[in-house]
Amino acid sequence: MTTFIAVLYIISFALFIYGLMGLTGPRTAVRGNWIAAVGMGIAVIATLLTPGMSNWLLIALGVAIGVVVGVPSARKVKMTAMPQMVALFNGVGGGAVALIAWVEFRTTDGYAHEPAYVAIASLFAAIVGSISFWGSNIAFGKLQELISGRPITLGKLQQPVNALVLIAAVVLAVVIATGGDAELLMIGLLVAAGVLGVVVVLPIGGADMPVVISLLNALTGLSAAAMGLALDNTALIVAGMIVGASGSILTNLMAKAMNRSIPAIVAGGFGGGTAVASSGSGEVRPVRSTSASDTAIQMAYANKVVVVPGYGMAVAQAQHVVREMAKLLEAKGITVAYAIHPVAGRMPGHMNVLLAEADVPYEQLKEMDEINSEFAQTDVALVIGANDVTNPAAETDPGSPIYGMPILKVNHSRSVIVLKRSMSSGFAGIDNELFYDAKTSMLFGDAKSSVGEIVEELKAL
Ligand code: NDP
Repeated sequence: MTTFIAVLYIISFALFIYGLMGLTGPRTAVRGNWIAAVGMGIAVIATLLTPGMSNWLLIALGVAIGVVVGVPSARKVKMTAMPQMVALFNGVGGGAVALIAWVEFRTTDGYAHEPAYVAIASLFAAIVGSISFWGSNIAFGKLQELISGRPITLGKLQQPVNALVLIAAVVLAVVIATGGDAELLMIGLLVAAGVLGVVVVLPIGGADMPVVISLLNALTGLSAAAMGLALDNTALIVAGMIVGASGSILTNLMAKAMNRSIPAIVAGGFGGGTAVASSGSGEVRPVRSTSASDTAIQMAYANKVVVVPGYGMAVAQAQHVVREMAKLLEAKGITVAYAIHPVAGRMPGHMNVLLAEADVPYEQLKEMDEINSEFAQTDVALVIGANDVTNPAAETDPGSPIYGMPILKVNHSRSVIVLKRSMSSGFAGIDNELFYDAKTSMLFGDAKSSVGEIVEELKAL
């Protein structure tokens, strides 16, 4: 039976790796996801076959609750709410690892009688799993806008409090590893790590959330791998390491794209909280608004139009009508390109996925570094539901929470037209000088309706 289980585990993680390869492109992603899911199904079956498995009723109840909660929510979730769902599911993974470490502590009466590597791996898993669970919940709250996206700090107490809870968690871990078997010690460790997760994520500003989410994701993977080591479970080690390694690579890439260092983000070193709200600050500044017909005329006389998509395009589901508009412009001999910021939208690759869905040719998608040098030769930059990723404050205002983040330099274009519904801020909760620029016109309304109107106007020209 043990050999059979080992074979099932090998099949399962071979499927994880094969599935992951499918996730490298939008066309193979769905198949890749299914392959990895089958791998996970096999891993669950292998685990259930492990000798000594009992409490079938409890297991069935757990599976039933997971299916009833997980399947409908994953099916119903809107594409735009996917990031917070990922944050939540990621947190649940970390929480499960922390709970397993606690259960192991109870069953073995502390870790004193266990080999050192089991004690160390379990305590690491408990701390990191708990940080990941609570940190991910805060990230969920920020993405769901239940908590402000702006940095929430303890002011001067922030660093001392961070250090204190970290030291508390480490000291409790040492006490447990050296023989402490009182359950309160373990509960204290989980609470200290949980508080650490909360106090580290709360001060991180909205614009830095992508890096945090992928960091928490990597932490969940590492905690699962450590728990797999303690439990001698190959599938958990491999699956955990895949998540840990890919999450770490993604974190690094995102941090680079945002021009941030990971330690500085975690230490709350960015976003000094000097953000200015665009709405409700009382100050009313004039902006120039335009109409769909003027926008269509302006673009029809352009040589080059660059579409700058952002989260609002995803909310409006405007990608198909944007593609239709681009085709009409191209038919008039106008060059159309799409400027892709690495953190536009609410998840890595969000804009690429949406535009691929609308069959936008891959060659027209331009990465930030490439397109930034082209804005000076661009007649019209059409900003569709993008805000933070175009905000010049990232370059000009050292007090801004997004200062230092590379942006799409749309303000270098000859003219800018911004499509959004109001003057509301984006995810970082800050005003955008671009909207008040003399070159900028605002086309207010839902992006899909506005682009739909532009399409009708272009057809009529
Ligand atoms: P933003 O969140 O900065 O702005 C989106 C804008 O879209 C809003 O200002 C909103 O204005 C507008 N909008 C919303 N709905 C519609 C609609 N139906 N029609 C037209 N406009 C609409 O988006 P960006 O893409 O510019 O920036 C992404 C932000 O999210 C960055 O701060 C990034 O750091 C953060 N983030 C990114 C993640 C990622 O992995 N990509 C993950 C987590 C956070 P209005 O309400 O006036 O319409």
